[in-house]
Parts: sequence; structure tokens; C-alpha cells
Amino acid sequence: MSTAKTATQNACKLCNPLGACLVFRGIEKCVPFLHGSQGCATYIRRYLISHYKEPVDIASSNFSEDTAVFGGSQNLKIGLKNVTKQYKPAVIGLATTCLSETIGDDVPMILREYVNEFKNGSPMPIMIHASTPSYQGSHIDGFHAAVRASVQTLAERGIANEHVNIFPNMVSPADMRYLKEIFKEFGLPFVMLPDYSQTLDGGPWGEYHRIPPGGTPVSEIVKTGFAKASIEFGATLENDKGAAGFLEEKLGVPRRKLGLPIGIKESDRFFALLEELSGKSLPEKYEDERRRLVDAYADGHKYVFEKRAIVYGEEDFVVSIAQFLREIGVIPVVCASGGKSGFLKKRIKEAIPDYEEMEIFVRDGIDFMDISDEAARLSPDFLIGSSKGYSISRKLNIPLVRIGFPIHDRFGGQRLHHIGYKGTQELFDRIANTIIEYRQSTSPVGYTYM
Ligand code: SF4
Repeated sequence: MSTAKTATQNACKLCNPLGACLVFRGIEKCVPFLHGSQGCATYIRRYLISHYKEPVDIASSNFSEDTAVFGGSQNLKIGLKNVTKQYKPAVIGLATTCLSETIGDDVPMILREYVNEFKNGSPMPIMIHASTPSYQGSHIDGFHAAVRASVQTLAERGIANEHVNIFPNMVSPADMRYLKEIFKEFGLPFVMLPDYSQTLDGGPWGEYHRIPPGGTPVSEIVKTGFAKASIEFGATLENDKGAAGFLEEKLGVPRRKLGLPIGIKESDRFFALLEELSGKSLPEKYEDERRRLVDAYADGHKYVFEKRAIVYGEEDFVVSIAQFLREIGVIPVVCASGGKSGFLKKRIKEAIPDYEEMEIFVRDGIDFMDISDEAARLSPDFLIGSSKGYSISRKLNIPLVRIGFPIHDRFGGQRLHHIGYKGTQELFDRIANTIIEYRQSTSPVGYTYM
């Protein structure tokens, strides 16, 4: 029975500037700064810290009732001055919030005024500004807006070099480390933006750092303007939204768009592109990973074949996970996202051409209430997505495979692999084991061998 509803309830997306803060955390010596109220910064900090288990400072221009009426210009300037003094950042990554966007603060103009009013000969941090009104998009839109704003601010024209840009989308720190390792194995110089593989999953500190070490250096972002090519992950990410689109249009850096490389087919496309760009054949190590994965598909087929799953999350993730599920014989009966790029159905159709005949239900702009209704109607074998599906999993007794972001109720979400042969292997093992575990726990006799 569907639930009568007149409003979104528990949206299947997060706040727009959250994605921007994540990107700014992946730029070296950068402080994320929200132009809005403290509550926005607190909410985003809570979400990021709970998943990544690392300290995340986010500054705020501290809107109050007065600021909401008369504008936040003064607050922003004072806040920028304080952050510059206390953190001594190389970069301040400024994202707007619902409130500052609604009252129409002209942030570029305020920043120009700030530079004129406060410059006193001493170097100022670089300001990167991303417009991130949450009523217009989700965390993934904020993520892409911040990556694009970073290259718009810093990329310079130059003679095409040998390096390649990699814009990895919102993957885990573990995925980022794996990507860096792959580029090194191919001997292919690269600039990865963002890179929060250390800042959000680093080691213990002997002394406190106001800004955690790591991240993409400014000097590297400058180089994105004269790379040989940009690789950008994101099936639903269009030219006018991503950083690679900007670099192609304005600076002539060719854009090579791929879906997130999850599953053998999509990973093959990624590795083939690296072979093309590097002029080197696939290193033996990845041949081995692929062989092991094919073997695992064959061994685990009996557990996963014709199982039915509901996949939800960011649109790019949903497309790639759905494609991977079909590859292993699982039917993704519902492919759902709170995002609204307008491309979800089209990309699912390209990934799974017979999706209509298979009666796969694809929906964007969805909330968890609707996903819960679909789960009750379809009784899938498992859910796959962030930990925000836990309440549905508990209510309907459907196992949940936790992937992506956020994962608040398990340990190590930042160290999950999703991409490439290695990430696919982990995902495949987890899915097969989830199904086995459920059969054991619901069996009257239990199984010691399956
Ligand atoms: S008010 Fe808007 S920007 Fe602030 S936390 Fe809520 S959704 Fe995010």
C-alpha cells in the first residue's frame, strides 16, 4: 500500500554544500567555509565526521536574524579575516547555503570588496567560491560545483603536457588511494582533484594540525589547464556541470567521460583508456585482479543469480551499481536517487537496454518513504546503498549492503573499495556473503556448508 504524502519525507539526498565541503577538504591547506548559519556547518561536520572518523573544521559566517534581513556581507568579511588569521590557509573554499542564496547575497562582489578592504601587502588565501543552494540540488551537485569552481579559479593555459587529470567523483578515500596506485603502475603522471585520501583517512598526529596534511596542491590544480586529457567519472555528469567540461571548453583539454568503473565491463573501459593514454599494456597485477574477479563471478554465481535488489544513492553510483548487478545476474528491481539530473533513466537504459521488459523501476527525485513503499511491494533480496536505508532494512527485514556515503552505523566506510577490479571484488564478496548470511539466519536448521 502506498503512503499518501504531500511533501518529501527523508529525502534520498544530502545537502548541496556538504559535497562542496568534501571537495574543499581534498585541496591542500584549504579551509571549507560556509556562508550561512552555524547550524548548516554543524550538520555537515556531523555527517562528515561520523562517516570518515576524522576531525573536520568548517568555518561559518554565522548568520543570525539580522543577517538574514540585511545581508551577510559584514559577517562574511569578518569570518574570512578570522579564518585567515587563525588557520593561515592557502585556500578558503567558500560554499553558499540555502539562506544566503535565498536572500541573494552577491558573494563574488563581497569577495572583491573584501580583497580591496583587507589587503595590506601580506599574501591572502586564494578564494574558491561555489554556489550551492540546497533547494536546487543535492550533495553531488555541490561536489561537482566545487570541483568545477576550483579549476575555474586556478587552472592555467599552457603547452599540453604528459599528465592526465582525474576527476574521480565522490568515491571513498580507499578508492582514491587505489586510483593513485593504478596511475603510478601505468607510469602515467596525473593530477587528481579532489584528493581526500589522507585528509579524511590519515594516520594519528603527534601534534594537532589545524588543517590536516594532504589534499591536491594548488600548484597541481593550476596544471589541470594544460593536461593531455581529463578523465571524469560520472554517467549523468554533463559538460556544463563538471570540471572536465570546463577545461575542454575553455582550455582545450580533451574530456574523456566514463561511468564509475564498477563491474568488469566498466573497469575494462577505464583500464583500456589508461592503456591508450599511457601507451602501455595492462600491468600484470591488474590482469591478476581481473582473473580473480572472473573466477569469483563463476564461483559465486549460484548465490547471486536472479536475486532482486533495490539500489539507491547518487545517480552516478546508481547507474554503475545497477550495471554491475546485471553483470553478476542480479536484477536491480528499483534504481532510485534523490538527485534530479534528468539523465537517470536514459543512462540506466544505456547500461541495461532491456530494463523496461525486466520491469525495473527507475526514479529520480525520490525519498526514503517511497523507497520503503517499493521495498514493501517488491520484497527484494537485498538493498544496496548508504546506511540511510537501515530503517527500511530493519522494518522489512531485508538485508542491507552498505556502500558509498554516508555510512554512520558501521565502522570503516571510508576504507571500502568500490571501483576497479579490486573494488568490484570486494562488492561481489560482500553481496554474496550478505545473501548467504541471510539464508543462514532465516533457516530453521542453519547451514554450515552452502
Ligand atoms: S539549510 Fe540548506 S544549506 Fe543549511 S543544512 Fe539545511 S539544506 Fe543544507
